[in-house]
Amino acid sequence: MCGIIGYTGSDPAVPILLDGLKKLEYRGYDSAGIAVQTKDGLHMIKASGKVEHLAALAAQAPDLEGVCGIGHTRWATHGSPTDINAHPHMSADGRFAIVHNGIIENYLEIKKDLEEKGVVFASETDTEVIVQLLAYYYDGDVRKSLTRTIRRLEGSYALAVLCADVPGTVFAARMSSPLIVGVGAGENYFASDITALIRHTKDVIDLEDGETAEISPDSVVIYDRYGSRTEKAPRHILWDIAAAEKGGYDHFMMKEIMEQPQALQATIVPRIKGGQIVLDSVELDMTKFDRILITACGSAYHAGCVGRIVIESLCRIPVEAEVASEFRYRDAVINEKTLVIVISQSGETADTIAALKEGKNKGASTLAIVNVVGSTIAKLADQVIYTWAGPEIAVATTKGYVTQLAILDLFAVWAARKLGRLDDASYKKLVKGLKALPAQAQRALDLSAGVKRLAALYHDRQSIFFIGRNLDYALAMEGSLKLKEISYLHSEAYAAGELKHGTIALIEPGRLVVALCCCERLYEKTASNIQQVKARGATVLAVAQESKRQVYGEADHVLQVPDCHPLLFPVTEIIPLQLLAYYVALENGCDIDKPKNLAKSVTVE
Ligand code: GLU
Repeated sequence: MCGIIGYTGSDPAVPILLDGLKKLEYRGYDSAGIAVQTKDGLHMIKASGKVEHLAALAAQAPDLEGVCGIGHTRWATHGSPTDINAHPHMSADGRFAIVHNGIIENYLEIKKDLEEKGVVFASETDTEVIVQLLAYYYDGDVRKSLTRTIRRLEGSYALAVLCADVPGTVFAARMSSPLIVGVGAGENYFASDITALIRHTKDVIDLEDGETAEISPDSVVIYDRYGSRTEKAPRHILWDIAAAEKGGYDHFMMKEIMEQPQALQATIVPRIKGGQIVLDSVELDMTKFDRILITACGSAYHAGCVGRIVIESLCRIPVEAEVASEFRYRDAVINEKTLVIVISQSGETADTIAALKEGKNKGASTLAIVNVVGSTIAKLADQVIYTWAGPEIAVATTKGYVTQLAILDLFAVWAARKLGRLDDASYKKLVKGLKALPAQAQRALDLSAGVKRLAALYHDRQSIFFIGRNLDYALAMEGSLKLKEISYLHSEAYAAGELKHGTIALIEPGRLVVALCCCERLYEKTASNIQQVKARGATVLAVAQESKRQVYGEADHVLQVPDCHPLLFPVTEIIPLQLLAYYVALENGCDIDKPKNLAKSVTVE
């Protein structure tokens, strides 16, 4: 999920690797490490914490002299961010060192297999199985061993590999995780992105899924997914470092909006095996609970509001959602028959930590949904399910939020099945619906250009209303918050049926109302609310599923998202709302990635 650098040439490798890792820091990480081919074999240093700390360790390590090496910044997904779990990882015989970005979904099965053959593992990571497999298959031919190894891997990987027997060469492989080759004169590189290389070269070759590569100082050799050598011409990059960090986008927020299909893929796909939802990390007897309470702050709370409806609807257990800052002081009636679910991207949100402690003190079982492995909430909760969104840099969450939705959906379906409340056909339909979400999110991103045009028309409104019912209302709250957070426009989210109880007084000519209409069974109801606001002069922008053609007769503008399972559409419906917030903020000249007065991780009360 984080950063990789590989170098081979004639200059000392350590400063080049450390500089590359420094440039990759913006991606977010928790530990760092490097390995170098020296005259006495492979040597590595690694530690949790900053690259600066690693550099201080490297300055005291005389045995790191060499001109070929690999480096890594880790964003832990499997195993806490400790020194031992940091990359590189070495095979037990010290012959191979690797760095890896991504997730190996079948690592437990491979680990068990290798342990039965006597291999001893040093770390808790999924990554280590790769290096131990490489050594296990090795018979003097690294390429052959790499091919056999990756054939066994399920999941995502960008790998850079050193072998003590092949001086001056770095091997690499890629599947669903970014990796590029940097082509220099008498030196070549691998890196996760161009930022790590821009000082050395702007000529890069993008590796595709399934490709493997070998670099030495004077050659770059690439093999396609079938193992045949393939020629690929480098492309010349013109970006400066600031543009390169954002993958060519103007802001991290847009980069992260665009990364949502991959984040959903990483979060959902490993948890569906053979058509079944598998939550390896969760040991819960669902029959024990007569109530579920979801508590969180900000967008995570809005994800909880979606989760409330989905879990209750499938599990038939009463579910409430409440902001953590209220819950913590309410002296709520909860006990050992309550499951408290807390949600936090960072895992460090102060109010959510307090709410979690409150739940535990009262004897409830606790389940955390967090993005940062080893965070305070992950450690405190009885059970953890990680969103595998990767690091999020923009203050306003996007991929963090959608992956929270995905986990809540997975959990709801898993729990309902455990409780025997989902028949085979409904279960199958939901699992199919979950698997389809990454591709549907990708299609929803096509709305970007249309949303940009609408933002140009409406960015100067004094106030924007978001209305919807049921799941659409939970989405209205998140859409409205996103707009407030980054564009500083006043905005309100209203349950569409509540308009007539007061708020409709604020609807006047020129008011923009965003009407969320994806909740199929309540469509007619929301359509009447659209008519009510239109009768008072509002302009209506509707978000509806593609099959809902009638909405064209009701609204002034329509943004159509792909048809999804009736409980799973929030994942795609939020995308045009994120884009709207982004483009309105852009029109208004706001500091999108660092909105005023907000912090990414709210560690104070
Ligand atoms: N899954 C690996 C780990 O947890 C790699 C994480 C990363 O991409 O940084 O160690």
